Amino acid sequence: MAFRPLSWLFGLFSLDIGIDLGTANTLVNVRGKGIVINEPSWVVIDKKTRIPEKIGLQAKEMVGRTPVTHLAVRPLRDGVISEYEITKALIEYFLSKAHQQTLVPLPRPRVVIGIPSGATEVEKKAVFDAAMESGARETYLIEEPMAAALGAGLPVTDVVGSMVVDIGGGTTEVAVISMNGVVVSRSLRVAGDELDQDIITYIRNKYNLLIGERMAEQVKMTIGSAYPLPTEKTMRVRGRNLVTGLPEELEISSVEIREGLSSSLQVIVDTIKDALDEVPPEIISDLIENGICLAGGGALILGLKERLSDELNLRVWVAEDPLTCVARGAGMVLEDLERYEKLLVVLD
Ligand code: ADP
Ligand code: MG
Repeated sequence: MAFRPLSWLFGLFSLDIGIDLGTANTLVNVRGKGIVINEPSWVVIDKKTRIPEKIGLQAKEMVGRTPVTHLAVRPLRDGVISEYEITKALIEYFLSKAHQQTLVPLPRPRVVIGIPSGATEVEKKAVFDAAMESGARETYLIEEPMAAALGAGLPVTDVVGSMVVDIGGGTTEVAVISMNGVVVSRSLRVAGDELDQDIITYIRNKYNLLIGERMAEQVKMTIGSAYPLPTEKTMRVRGRNLVTGLPEELEISSVEIREGLSSSLQVIVDTIKDALDEVPPEIISDLIENGICLAGGGALILGLKERLSDELNLRVWVAEDPLTCVARGAGMVLEDLERYEKLLVVLD
């Protein structure tokens, strides 16, 4: 490769930022520094004006506790961009926060953003425009499963096929990748949020106890499981008894929660099976060799890899630090745009 002194020099003084615009969490990876921001993708807006007032961590703390005049929203909840202005505010906030962390004023950044694979052309354009309007000098988009696979260390540029299952908050993305491209993919709206809802429904039906979304998420992360545990666990939950209307606390077990989660987990299993059905035999052979990689926060559900292994007859492994795969993958693209150019989304 030819030595390009100017671009090298420019690289020293420019800011390169990779963003994982997740349905649950937004991560910002600054080249040379690593992941500097990791905050929930929540925005609190004024109901009347729809102007964003709190973003990220501050907004998530208000969830379930907002005054009637305000609304806490996740603009990417289902893996689609529901409101352009709010999404733009989110991107603007994270870009400016990353910029503030640099010691010297730097030129406008180059940005790589991960977008859900189910995003429509209009949505992709919206994210691109939002980043440009937020001050990016250049913006590149990459599909999240591709970024996740790259961040997880899968050989995405090789002829060897790999499979990644990224279970986030709003969506589960299944992708089989080979030679820079997605061979087979599935995107479904059953992921972490749905599991939280399952827990709410289960506890309401069984005990007439209504618990909040954040409590349900706590239950999922502490005792939620997909496969019998070596030692089953219990946890205390708090909510409002729907019969008496009074506050109540009760103890719940991992066995019960597993029952509550089973049908959504089965949907995820079946979707992966369905994707495997379409995979060409040569690549199936690669998958037998290399297994299936789990990424995203949902990869941390206890016993999930055992459950999937059992049902799919393949080795299943969890990526290192599964919550940061997309952000790290976006960072790798920035490190070597030439090498990974083929992975990027081309806008019409
Ligand atoms: P997204 O990319 O959609 O923003 P993430 O990959 O950040 O999503 O994952 C967020 C989801 O992972 C949430 O639903 C969260 O509850 C779930 N999660 C995070 N940690 C755990 C854990 N230890 N066990 C189970 N679920 C978890
Ligand atoms: Mg994600």
